[in-house]
Amino acid sequence: MALYGGIEAGGTKIVCAVGTDPSNFLAETRFPTAAPGEVIPRMIAFFEEQTRLHGALSGLGIAAFGPVDPDRNSPTYGYVTTTPKPGWARTDFAGAVQRALRVPVGFDTDVNVAALGEGRWGAAQGLDDFMYLTVGTGVGGGVVTNGKLLHGLMHPEAGHIRPQHDWQRDPYPGHCPYHGDCLDGMVSGPAIQERVGVRGNELGEEHPVWDLVADYLGQGCATYVVTLCPRRIIIGGGVMEHTFLYQRVRERTAHYLNGYIQVREILHDIDQFIVPPGLGNRSGVLGAFALAELTAQAAGTA
Ligand code: ZN
Repeated sequence: MALYGGIEAGGTKIVCAVGTDPSNFLAETRFPTAAPGEVIPRMIAFFEEQTRLHGALSGLGIAAFGPVDPDRNSPTYGYVTTTPKPGWARTDFAGAVQRALRVPVGFDTDVNVAALGEGRWGAAQGLDDFMYLTVGTGVGGGVVTNGKLLHGLMHPEAGHIRPQHDWQRDPYPGHCPYHGDCLDGMVSGPAIQERVGVRGNELGEEHPVWDLVADYLGQGCATYVVTLCPRRIIIGGGVMEHTFLYQRVRERTAHYLNGYIQVREILHDIDQFIVPPGLGNRSGVLGAFALAELTAQAAGTA
């Protein structure tokens, strides 16, 4: 049986795992996201040990915080590119792992890889067109279209669209260092905390900030519907652990679309259209297995 490695490199923690699918995890380790000179050797040591225990990996998938270069024809393929994270800018992440372990390595953004996982085993099984949005430390979106991850110019940075900002109701200027009040700047965990002065998980469901968050996310989802035509939008991430938000986001999405998109999914089944991840908080690491599998198939090692 083919065995896969997965790395989910998030802004705060890194998860490394070995297995085949959600029901077969052989090993997992996690540690904080320190400088690459410290954590990349740690990842490599983990996979070397697992290879000794369980045999060779057929492939390995990396889900990385971005921006990254996922273009296989680019000289900087596999790099983390412009991140402000100390030490990580212009780091050849996939190359370092590939050279050490000598297995086919797939590399993409954390949200694109999470989308792959949701398509393979989670809430988007059977769909060729869908979106995975995370709302946590930041806001990011991975997009599958015609059965493939959307790349093009780079990769989607769907958290950085510009919702209409109601300055009267919400004088907060926004948290994004590039755009201020883009969607990421208005609804990410740090934006909520900076706006109200305490962490979101200390706020009750009746706190007015949640209506603002739901409204901006509704604007975002309405924008994705009319531009990307997803058949489902999966929303994960720490902020969405406030599960009352799902219903409010659905309502605001329908409000902003205002009857213009005459499809059953929006008009009658929006509860099945905007949904939580089927894989819980495992979409990223399982998506890395799915990416490893695709990469192994392409390399002929599966
Ligand atoms: Zn932004």
